[in-house]
Amino acid sequence: MKQPNYISEAPSECADGTSRRSVYLTFDDGPNPLFTPQILDVLAQHRVPATFFVVGAHAADQPELIQRMIAEGHEIGNHTMTHPDLSRCGLGEVQREVFEANGAIIMACPQASVRYIRAPYGAWSEEVFTASEIAGLAALHWSVDPRDWSRPGIDAIVDAVLASVRPGAIVLLHDGCPPDVLRRGTHASLRDQTAGALSRLIPALHACGYEIRCLPQHH
Ligand SMILES: [Zn+2]
Repeated sequence: MKQPNYISEAPSECADGTSRRSVYLTFDDGPNPLFTPQILDVLAQHRVPATFFVVGAHAADQPELIQRMIAEGHEIGNHTMTHPDLSRCGLGEVQREVFEANGAIIMACPQASVRYIRAPYGAWSEEVFTASEIAGLAALHWSVDPRDWSRPGIDAIVDAVLASVRPGAIVLLHDGCPPDVLRRGTHASLRDQTAGALSRLIPALHACGYEIRCLPQHH
């Protein structure tokens, strides 16, 4: 069977041969002026790093949040310019989405160095892998999805992560929502449970012996 071209777990290896119980937090679809500051506050309180897969159009609207992410030691990833389903786009459109998002991130914060891309909806295609490679970005998926965007309740989000986490896990959470959902302004645009879940999840992961880390270098 063909290996997937994306990373969905990132086990860490140490020079001394001990495997650390690393876990990686990722947040998609922001930055959002309401919810991203809450998430950043919780991360700062617990001094843990995260990777934010931002939508380029949102980054252009909220440059100060991109600057805050970088200033507080987080990483920014590419989540395209407008959040389309890339599996329905031709190579030209995919490339434009990827390059424009990188441009918006750098425009918001020239110090940002973008290493990873995540396709909206996890909809990967050969065109996405090609465009990512050209842009020098590694494709990053996830291994733990508590569906926080569906607002199942803070307990349900925390329990879902703890039930499936293992060393190297990449956890998918959301600090914002896609532009089309935002425009509709329904309850589906709310990410009000995520920060609350995060403030319980971080101590719970620490209690299980996990260390929340920055994503490793890729080759
Ligand atoms: Zn998304």
